[in-house]
Amino acid sequence: MIFVTNDDGIDAPGLQVLAEALETLDEVYVVAPDRERSAVGMAITLHQPLRAKQIRTRVYAVDGTPVDCVDLALGTLLPEPPRLLVSGINRGQNLGADIHFSGTVGAAKKGTLSGIPSIAVSLALEQIGEQPDFHYKTAGTIACRIAKQVIEKGIPSHILLNVNVPNCGLSEIRGIKITRQDRGNYSINAVTRLDRGGRPYYWIGGERTQIDFGRDTDLHAVHNRRVSITPVQLDFTDHTLITPLKSWLDDENMQL
Ligand code: MN
Repeated sequence: MIFVTNDDGIDAPGLQVLAEALETLDEVYVVAPDRERSAVGMAITLHQPLRAKQIRTRVYAVDGTPVDCVDLALGTLLPEPPRLLVSGINRGQNLGADIHFSGTVGAAKKGTLSGIPSIAVSLALEQIGEQPDFHYKTAGTIACRIAKQVIEKGIPSHILLNVNVPNCGLSEIRGIKITRQDRGNYSINAVTRLDRGGRPYYWIGGERTQIDFGRDTDLHAVHNRRVSITPVQLDFTDHTLITPLKSWLDDENMQL
């Protein structure tokens, strides 16, 4: 059985397309937020109870975050552990630093942490320019092919696959590229406005600043109409710095 979730909510077209595509491989269970919960990362709801509403057979909407959905699905709603979790298809790319904020990737991270092979799938919109159509079908087809391979070959237990698909027809895709995460970030931008009482309120959200943009990155691949697949590890430790740090962040220098 394959477990599908997302962060755009239960009514999102990307979720529907993904579930339908994966049904050609195996039985699909959907447990997804009852409304859009994009950019909530791995947030969890601990201070209020959660409700799950069964929409139809094997489909549940939860009044929580994407990670709440994974917890509920694995903890109680699914009859058995799934052999694969696929999160998406997100409306918009999750490239570079986006993966830290993404609820789509957050759900896949939670799946990985729970021992389920997990894939995050996003439809990259900004790279192709103005597109009147959302090519979820392309992303669904590709997600299904990747899922089939992952079920066959497996992925290491602490790794998830972050997949970004260019927003174009399947025949316009120039291939698959295994990539690394771009190291660019967003500019800091806080816009101040005044409410009717004269009190300030704020909008945050900057522009992507492409300080990296190497040819081996996820951003570069999608810009060139290639499907980007990044193996993302959940161990954030920089193992190369353990030994160098010991030489100066030590008892003697810390006077302990
Ligand atoms: Mn989203």
